Amino acid sequence: MEKYNIIHIEQGDCERTLKEPAKEVPFPLSEEHLNLIHAMSQKFEDDNMAGLAAPQVGHPWKIILFHVTEMAMENRENADDSVPLTLLINPSYEPVKEDGQNNDWEACFSVHSTMGKVDRWNTIHFKGFNIEGKPVEGLAQGFLARLLQHEIDHVNGVLFVDRLKPENTQGPMDEMRKMRLQELGMEE
Ligand SMILES: [Zn+2]
Repeated sequence: MEKYNIIHIEQGDCERTLKEPAKEVPFPLSEEHLNLIHAMSQKFEDDNMAGLAAPQVGHPWKIILFHVTEMAMENRENADDSVPLTLLINPSYEPVKEDGQNNDWEACFSVHSTMGKVDRWNTIHFKGFNIEGKPVEGLAQGFLARLLQHEIDHVNGVLFVDRLKPENTQGPMDEMRKMRLQELGMEE
């Protein structure tokens, strides 16, 4: 991807793009989309995050990037394999309902006030396209399945707070972070 200019992501109107379904990306990718993908990938170098969707940086396109790091594997019981930074364009998923759901912590780069435990499918069948426009699909389980559901929700205009039910553990970031560290046996 080095041949593309590094652009600074112009923070668009996230207020709007976070709440509306994003647009399908046409292939072959335009220079605008390649630049956006590159700029999104740069954000992973600066910020400690697991995934990023284009609407989070104010661009209403169905583009997500994600990875599962060694750190995520230490903090999540169900993160079994590390995954390098991966791009998925026009992503979608179908739950494997017979595998049921689990309830675990989520936070979001775009939601500053709240952290909470969200119900997500244990297993999903995901689909999308790679940078060349070739279809990709697979099964994801555990933390990777959670991460993909969170990011794919973003391109459909859905935030994790929209999925929190009244009975789910949730609250201000600081309090919830402490609770999570306690759960992990890593009290500050
Ligand atoms: Zn998010």
